[in-house]
Amino acid sequence: MMIESIANGMGVDAHCHIDLFPEPVAIATEIQRLKIHTIAVTNAPSVFHFTANLEKEHSFVHAAAGLHPELVKTHSGELPLLIELIEHTRFVGEVGLDFVTTNPDDRKLQEHVFGKMLDKCASVGGRILTIHSRRSSGRVIEMLENTPPGIAILHWFSGPKKDLLKAIKLGCWFSINPAMVRSQTGRALIAGMPKDKTLLESDGPFVNDGGLPSTPSSIQSITKEISEIWDCTEDDVRTRVNENFCKLMN
Ligand code: MN
Repeated sequence: MMIESIANGMGVDAHCHIDLFPEPVAIATEIQRLKIHTIAVTNAPSVFHFTANLEKEHSFVHAAAGLHPELVKTHSGELPLLIELIEHTRFVGEVGLDFVTTNPDDRKLQEHVFGKMLDKCASVGGRILTIHSRRSSGRVIEMLENTPPGIAILHWFSGPKKDLLKAIKLGCWFSINPAMVRSQTGRALIAGMPKDKTLLESDGPFVNDGGLPSTPSSIQSITKEISEIWDCTEDDVRTRVNENFCKLMN
């Protein structure tokens, strides 16, 4: 990644599943045209190569190697491939824990996979992770504390306030999506997030934005809602978020 293109970035999407849109190349083309730095997360190591190829042709796409916690039960056999990919990729995600399942064995397997992945990130160093923590923020934060993996971005953070405070103390980053700014609890959490460690995310195509799946370009307008929550101008939010991404990359 050249410093020049970071400086020229016009927007940020820190968590987007480009490969899960019906037309991923069209999304990547739009990202490139609008200069939106996009962390393109993936849900399984076996599909990473598709997004890695998109990155070769689109410098604003940053491919991330991941294994989604909800896929761990069926795809845990791909853990060795994830470990191998982390050796070569700066971005890692989507990874984390999802405790919607109450099955203790499933939870334990997720923790095993997440733990091994954290070990690998910690040993190679310099990795940037985008992390899922639904109903599991306490455990995720505990594991990050035990094995600091590099830069940890908590995507769509929805845990209790006490976990937000712990995560901030630990130096975690956060990415905000349209669903969060629409919800009362989401807005309360955003109000407490550190302005110098906050990014935008679409989590497209899974988040709805005005009746359509949210995309890297559609979410740039949530800077308006964030500016109301933070009591500053929309320009301030936009500048902040772009500067934060530069900081992340350097
Ligand atoms: Mn996601």
